[in-house]
Amino acid sequence: MRKTALLAALAATALPFSAFAQGRPAPAPAPAVSAEVAALRDAALKDDVAYDIVEGLTTEVGPRLAGTEAEARARDWAVQKLTALGFKNVRIETTPMSVWVRGVETGEVVAPFPQKLHLTALGGSGATPPEGITAEIVYFPSFADLQRAPEGSLKGKIAFVSNAMVATQDGSSYGQFGAARFVGPGIAAQKGAIAMVIRSIGSDHGRGPHTGQTNFPKGVAPIPAAALSTSDADNLSRMVARGQPIKLHLVLTPRETGQHDTGNVIAEVPGTDPNAGLIVVGGHLDSWDLGTGAIDDASGVAITAAAAKRLLDGPAPRRTIRVVWFGDEETGGAGAAAYFAAHKNERHDLVAESDFGADRIWRVEFNLPDSAKPAGDRVAAALAPLGIVRGTALGGDGADIALLVKSGVAAIDLNQSGTRYFDYHHTPEDTLERIDPEQLRQNVAAWTAMLAVIANAPEEIGTTKAKP
Ligand code: ZN
Ligand code: ZN
Repeated sequence: MRKTALLAALAATALPFSAFAQGRPAPAPAPAVSAEVAALRDAALKDDVAYDIVEGLTTEVGPRLAGTEAEARARDWAVQKLTALGFKNVRIETTPMSVWVRGVETGEVVAPFPQKLHLTALGGSGATPPEGITAEIVYFPSFADLQRAPEGSLKGKIAFVSNAMVATQDGSSYGQFGAARFVGPGIAAQKGAIAMVIRSIGSDHGRGPHTGQTNFPKGVAPIPAAALSTSDADNLSRMVARGQPIKLHLVLTPRETGQHDTGNVIAEVPGTDPNAGLIVVGGHLDSWDLGTGAIDDASGVAITAAAAKRLLDGPAPRRTIRVVWFGDEETGGAGAAAYFAAHKNERHDLVAESDFGADRIWRVEFNLPDSAKPAGDRVAAALAPLGIVRGTALGGDGADIALLVKSGVAAIDLNQSGTRYFDYHHTPEDTLERIDPEQLRQNVAAWTAMLAVIANAPEEIGTTKAKP
């Protein structure tokens, strides 16, 4: 019992354990959670709306690559769903973007140990001729090794970076090891490489490769760039260790299809106070094309809409809650840019995004002005019974909300556990089967509690320190 009480105190305050071990006085009591907020939160633990949205979107639309006709079908599906749920002012705002689509993608080791490779093109990859290319690889155990390679040293070669990402609860390893994908091919191209393969940025040990966008600097022509499955990459690394030159044959024929529309789908829970700012919550509607985009990011749009729906069905909140299902996030963020361009002059009180799957939320982080600190304390108190700790970093993560956060809009992050997210992220395995309905409900409960506190908070929220 005593241990349970201590853990609850820790959850509410996020003080390090050592603070207690050193005999410091107990922290100030957390604010009481209002009966209304507690009731909304606890009812959401039985939510079925979020699962219904993930199931529907993955079944009736499936993969929805940004700017393609599949994303257009997803938008129409979204309008129908959000309208049926009773949201107000449901609409689509489109913007043109240049669209990249996958082609043929095969690879094999030609010598010294001939065998097929499981790989997939990275978004933005250049193309080989239809018959493919054959060349020797130059091996780099890490991204930094590639960065240190001398100018011109990759002329006519295929660069191979094998850095391995290991799962972390906060997902931080993605940012660090992901550089091999985000910018590696551009660097390899500048050093003369004719193609690049990377070990998938993922924490699984399967043969499903992880795609994702890569970015070439202005003026650098895209080279063919692919991710090997983690096990194919490890196999290739073992071949490297045997010391003989290795030749690969690659066929990658993606292409740019020109300018097409992507679009944000917007829906609202109208607030009662015309002078209060907007609360924007959402995720991204587009997905990569290999799976059906269940954890990335059908679950994010589902969780945030299901939570907003709970406020929609009760007494009108003080602030308007605007649900935004962003268009292109995956291939460059045209959706977020279009939202910011169209709405930056409206008063936004707070933004929050869900784009990290549907496993249980374990941490909340804030970026609030001093005037709204008490509201943040009430959010933390309302989340503690869900097992959520208060973090110490500045909130405001998420590509779709980054421009708003940078402009000084307050933000709250509800962080999902990332221990299995990168087993499936951007792979053919990102399907409905990855969603755990119980953990999904915990997400909805957390978002509902946060919205119930913030949308009705009497405090001034306004602008805060811009997060860089
Ligand atoms: Zn993604
Ligand atoms: Zn995402």
